Amino acid sequence: MTTTEPEIVELPQLAVHWARIRGRLQAEVGEVEYRTWLRQMTLAGLDGDEITVTLPTRFLRDWVSTRYGDRLSALWQGENPAIRRVEIRVGNASVPLPALTESLAAPREPVAARTEEPPARRDAAPAPIQGPSNSHAAPGSGWSEERVESRSDLAAPLDPRFTFEGFVVGKPNEFAYACARRVAERPSSPGFNPLFLYGGVGLGKTHLMHAIAWELTDRTTSPVSVAYMSAEKFMYRFIAAIRSQSTMEFKENLRSVDVLMIDDLQFLIGKDNTQEEFFHTFNYLVEQGKQIVVSADKSPSDLNGLEHRLRTRLGCGMVADLHSTTYELRLSILEAKAARAGVEVPVKVLEFLAHKITSNVRELEGALNRLVAHANLFGRPVTLETTHEVLHDILKAHDRRVTIEEIQKKVAEHYSIRLTDMSSARRARAVARPRQVAMFLAKQLTSRSLPEIGRKFGNRDHTTVMHAVSRVTELMERDGTFAEDVELLRRLLES
Ligand code: ADP
Ligand code: MG
Repeated sequence: MTTTEPEIVELPQLAVHWARIRGRLQAEVGEVEYRTWLRQMTLAGLDGDEITVTLPTRFLRDWVSTRYGDRLSALWQGENPAIRRVEIRVGNASVPLPALTESLAAPREPVAARTEEPPARRDAAPAPIQGPSNSHAAPGSGWSEERVESRSDLAAPLDPRFTFEGFVVGKPNEFAYACARRVAERPSSPGFNPLFLYGGVGLGKTHLMHAIAWELTDRTTSPVSVAYMSAEKFMYRFIAAIRSQSTMEFKENLRSVDVLMIDDLQFLIGKDNTQEEFFHTFNYLVEQGKQIVVSADKSPSDLNGLEHRLRTRLGCGMVADLHSTTYELRLSILEAKAARAGVEVPVKVLEFLAHKITSNVRELEGALNRLVAHANLFGRPVTLETTHEVLHDILKAHDRRVTIEEIQKKVAEHYSIRLTDMSSARRARAVARPRQVAMFLAKQLTSRSLPEIGRKFGNRDHTTVMHAVSRVTELMERDGTFAEDVELLRRLLES
């Protein structure tokens, strides 16, 4: 070690410094921020007294330069006074610097689902780092401290909130939840491969997939490499690989994972080449005993536009659907999220929201977040009044201006009964059930009182309406097909 002139350190030491800097940054800015902006930084090299760090997009580069540039420089100087400048570049700028591949040890991040390089490449001669489109060789066996950070090109970052602990289980999602848990505990079990999760927007598909990935990547014994990405990203990566003539690498990368998760597969409808590629990868991985998890908005058999053979294979493992939320589930979710938000939200408000915002959990969450933010900002307690005030626009959008007449008409059409039967005295099941559904929807979708609703249905008593509401609720819980029917009607009327 020199004493007078600071010396440019050896590469391995550089890697140690970098690891420490990343760790410091992470501690300073917090998990979420780090994950959002800084995680994708790659140490590209050292040239004289200048360190180069790359980021995959210009936007990220600009953001990181302005917000963290000075801090990065200071941290580098703290590690090694010989370094005078930190250059932050967009990743694919070529870096004419010595390779650091083997020596870049980053701290283990519990953050990204990751993949490893295919084993054959591990011993390859170090190649110059070319920013994020380059893969990092992974020395050692994956999960030890010396492991090169494999911020994989393949894997998208995981949302820290999307864990099993953060998932509220209720009737509509308990089966999907149980399947997800099972796969996270024992991937590639017969009967659970592939796991196919489907359901409407905002019902928790992505949440469950991330939860599986978190569980698997956080395991300390028998490590598993996981690649999670949306079908859209899958396609873009595939196209990019074709363009840069690196499809072999793309394939190898994909095929080296233990668990492959593709979210929103319906995106591949009409994208025949990408489907084909996915199909082959899928088959390869399943043959190797690797786990596949896929989500979509419909069941495999309903994914018209996906190749038949792919649909067949997708349906071969476990197919689990997430049903529309019930009032009870919405309320439990709100309770759980409110408890975590650290702001007291009266039960009345939660009940009101669970009642009003029925579309999906994402909107429900958004509404609650806004209430909490407002309460924090102005230091005012959350009440029904502030709720009306703060969520004015959201509530208005949900204040469906559906009339009872419209509901009766739609429901009668749907069940092929006469409109007059909505107010007739006939009690045959074929008529009475649709009438009950219409009353139920009238209660849900309008602000009419029970007696008012009763009057519109042939001057019935309010207790008849009450009975209809509880009967339909009960049936919806018991009978999935019936529930879907009612949901469909509700959506039709709301749109
Ligand atoms: P999808 O992928 O099905 O469209 P997401 O998984 O993105 O839906 O869920 C939308 C939002 O709702 C996320 O913030 C998610 O955490 C939340 N969410 C959905 N279902 C639940 C649940 N059962 N418990 C807690 N949060 C949920
Ligand atoms: Mg999703």
